[in-house]
Amino acid sequence: MSLVDTEALILRTYNLAEADKIVVCLTKHSGLIRGVAKGCRKLRNRFGASLEPFTHVYLTYYERENRELVSIRQTEILKSNFNLSSDPSIVTALAYLGDLLIEFSPPHQANELLFRMSTACFDAVSQTPEDLQSILRYFEVWLLKIEGFLPDLRACANCHRTFAEETIYLGHDLSLRCAQCSNSRGSAVSKHLHSQLRATEKLPQPKFAHEVREASSETKKQIAELTFQMIGRVLERMPRIRPNV
Ligand SMILES: [Zn+2]
Repeated sequence: MSLVDTEALILRTYNLAEADKIVVCLTKHSGLIRGVAKGCRKLRNRFGASLEPFTHVYLTYYERENRELVSIRQTEILKSNFNLSSDPSIVTALAYLGDLLIEFSPPHQANELLFRMSTACFDAVSQTPEDLQSILRYFEVWLLKIEGFLPDLRACANCHRTFAEETIYLGHDLSLRCAQCSNSRGSAVSKHLHSQLRATEKLPQPKFAHEVREASSETKKQIAELTFQMIGRVLERMPRIRPNV
């Protein structure tokens, strides 16, 4: 049995028995974990509001070899995102981010980059909720990239020619090809859309948010449609939750 201290983002909770909860969270130390918080639904309990979804906490838990469920011992709130729970569109969007993290992260595999990107996006929603749409797009593109599903945005997957300012095509295998190699089949990615995708790879999130603010509402819708399609193909089904665009 070993004791682990780590930062974590609470993603989802389920009631268990009379007074307990199962807590699903993304940790910095060991990726996605599921843990039991004993007694956390009693009126007076040591966890307080720290196990509310989307809270960034410092977590202490026990793990045993060959047991998937860990035992949560202690929590300390680093950042409560409770201020966001009054806006239903934000709650839906955060639940969507949480779901994607649960779907994409293999349990007990540390991925510090994913953890940092996720906490940065949750913080950004809390600080600039008006940028929600651009934060969602940023999160989706980076999640695909970190998990190795984002196609090469620079060159055609077939002839390896560097893309110029041109319409390119996303195939069913999640690769991007030039018009010639794809026979213009697949989902068309316009040059505006392509440059927005490139920007997500290059820019830190606040600068990307600024760039998306300048984009036309048509381009914004197209990015949302494209990232949603890519995620659907990776999962082989559409995500359970779809935030408003
Ligand atoms: Zn080509």
